[in-house]
Amino acid sequence: MTVSAAQKIFADRVSRIEISATMAVTAEAAKLRAGGTNLVDFGAGEPHFATPRHIKDAAIAAIENNFTRYTMVSGIPELRKAIVERHAADFGSSYTPEETVFTTGGKLALFHAIQVLVDHGDEVVLPVPYWVSFKDIIQYAGGKPVYLETSEAENFRITAAAIERAITPRTKAIVLNSPSNPSGAVMAPADLEQVVRLAHARNIYLLLDECYAYLQFTGAPISGGSFTDCKEHLVILGSLSKTYAMTGWRAGFALAPKPIIQAMSKLQSQDTCSAAAFVQKAAIAALTGPQQCVTEMRDDYLSLRDQILTLLRDIPGVTCTVPDGAFYVYPNISAFLNSSNAGKDKVCTASELATRLLHEGHVVTVPGEAFGTREHIRLSYAVSHADVDEGLRRMKEFFAKLNK
Ligand code: PLP
Repeated sequence: MTVSAAQKIFADRVSRIEISATMAVTAEAAKLRAGGTNLVDFGAGEPHFATPRHIKDAAIAAIENNFTRYTMVSGIPELRKAIVERHAADFGSSYTPEETVFTTGGKLALFHAIQVLVDHGDEVVLPVPYWVSFKDIIQYAGGKPVYLETSEAENFRITAAAIERAITPRTKAIVLNSPSNPSGAVMAPADLEQVVRLAHARNIYLLLDECYAYLQFTGAPISGGSFTDCKEHLVILGSLSKTYAMTGWRAGFALAPKPIIQAMSKLQSQDTCSAAAFVQKAAIAALTGPQQCVTEMRDDYLSLRDQILTLLRDIPGVTCTVPDGAFYVYPNISAFLNSSNAGKDKVCTASELATRLLHEGHVVTVPGEAFGTREHIRLSYAVSHADVDEGLRRMKEFFAKLNK
């Protein structure tokens, strides 16, 4: 369809964003699957576990009890209490129920926070590699992402000094995500504290996406909320999706000073109204119930990480940093790009490599371009141990052929 300027259909804001790359990969894989192809899927970033029984039961009971009507926009009081108490118990933060809003997924909490804080022309510092949606959500609001390169040799470390260098008079916010999607890198507590204090001192909003906070493999999980004397410019974004295997329930939240929460709730009152009533009851069960399920799932991710790293290292030419959290590996595949002995089928970009890996190797991955780097692919290892074995066997075979 060619549309002249006079016939312009879509608002500018829509042209500033792209379809989520992970969703696009999922769609492409679904097409192949529908045609009967057996795929090993390392694409989607979601737990392979079922939602724990007690959480499902709470939702079922809520529906049976007709807890199915509109609720308060920012979430029922019991839930907001559960959110702040869970966070305080686990991270030593200090928020009141008025300083949290429950949302239809962590992505919406992030979307609302950016919408209420970032204006046209505002700069937002964003370390690379970044989670796909950060860039688009910032751009949708009219903001300008300022990319902060990190070094793979230093495990994609983010330091306060590097962030300080990226700050200009137009900087409105910094967005950080630790443990990171896609690299699995975890910020050192000292680095996190310095960044929190820097943002506080410079009156810059620090948006901390702590969606994988409970999936950290070494040391105690940390939160920027632990630095209770620096709350004024801090927005913590949380999600139940990964912690409790609840991706499809759409359950997330933000913790922030009351005026920010009020602005986010005002926006929410005009879009979703509130998260689904019975999902809120399920979220209470998740946050106040036994936390053993979280530890058990994390332990399995750790053993999957070790398994996938061992097998990746067995593929000549592939290198990979050791992720300390989340459930992703971000191998460097640069050895296979433009390789002269790849003949006419030369693979030039990570996207081309991921496409060929999908169609010829029948393994789903997400190319690094989606996360701001050109030499990587992302694999989500939230799959069975058998799938890790089979997927890596296929990848080894694929890479061996590519180099012939
Ligand atoms: N933040 C990060 C870094 C993520 O990886 C995701 C999901 O993949 C989200 C936020 C959104 O999670 P949800 O909207 O399912 O709560």
